[in-house]
Amino acid sequence: RMFKRQMVCRRDIERFNRSFLAIYESLIPPEEEKEKQKQLLTMLEKLVNKEWPEARLFLYGSCANSFGVSKSDVDVCLAIEDGDTRKSEILLRLADILQSDNLQNVQALIRARVPIVKLMDPASGISCDICINNVLAVVNTKLLRDYAQIDVRLRQLAYIVKHWAKSRAVNETYHGTLSSYAYVLMCIHFLQQRRPAILPCLQRMEATYSVTVDGVQCAYFDQVEKLQGWGSRNRETIAELVWGFFYYWAYCHDYANTVASVRMGRTISKREKDWTRRVGNDRHLICIEDPFEVSHDLGRVVDKFSIRVLREEFERAADIMQHDSNPCGTLFQPYVP
Ligand code: ATP
Ligand code: MG
Repeated sequence: RMFKRQMVCRRDIERFNRSFLAIYESLIPPEEEKEKQKQLLTMLEKLVNKEWPEARLFLYGSCANSFGVSKSDVDVCLAIEDGDTRKSEILLRLADILQSDNLQNVQALIRARVPIVKLMDPASGISCDICINNVLAVVNTKLLRDYAQIDVRLRQLAYIVKHWAKSRAVNETYHGTLSSYAYVLMCIHFLQQRRPAILPCLQRMEATYSVTVDGVQCAYFDQVEKLQGWGSRNRETIAELVWGFFYYWAYCHDYANTVASVRMGRTISKREKDWTRRVGNDRHLICIEDPFEVSHDLGRVVDKFSIRVLREEFERAADIMQHDSNPCGTLFQPYVP
């Protein structure tokens, strides 16, 4: 009976495939936007190099990891040999330089958890955050981009999930819900778990790329062009995967005992990581291991209130996918407090 129910569900869900694909397509940024981002980066690099000839700029985050929707902010990392200069001094100097070059709303936020300079480029309307020497973020951006090249269903799923999370107001780390980065890792984890699997575990394959950043070794198989079609034995479509994703996080994930680990390509036990109890502000109520900074739980922002909000949203989404006659309409209905 279970099998029959699943078959019925499958056939029904296929009807929504087109609508999900249309939403995905509508979220992809147009080429000219990418072009404008590149121009902005080149312009910033020129300004920066006048002051620090050796410094380099790298894009990271959604404008470079292939999970960026149209009109996203641009995240930039300034890589610089800082010697003895404090980060805050560099940021203040950088803010001065940018200010005198007609960029708008230039602000140095030196007390933030990740200190940055914010700015807006009036020519393109693009907003941009610049941080210093956050090279790990540049490397995890590459990991995400590499995963995205293996199977287009990752990009489709992650766009839908991010769009859902923004609509439902559960993409706000300052309110105890999850970052976009965490959601993409949850998608990768989920696709590694499908049977047959849709994504491999790149960090458990022979390393063709290896760097050490801030004492953390980052190594994995990055020749992803050789892996295209790797998951094609699994023929699930985007509608089924959206349903499966929410169903997994609503009803199947063992929140009490396990950690989602993209690094291992499976769940691992909380006990193994000593994430079983609250330590300081880290409550470990939903555990998502950072693929490189393995002591870092991306779920640590989640508290006992927001975990309920999150899980209720997963359940709502799973139930909509199961029963609603127009899931694409209902799923993304803005959350109204
Ligand atoms: P959005 O489209 O919402 O801007 P984004 O991909 O830029 O999405 P963010 O969550 O803003 O996602 O994160 C930007 C980048 O910063 C990520 O791609 C990741 O490289 C890095 N990052 C963000 N949060 C963390 C974190 N908690 N630990 C390590 N790296 C992080
Ligand atoms: Mg961003």
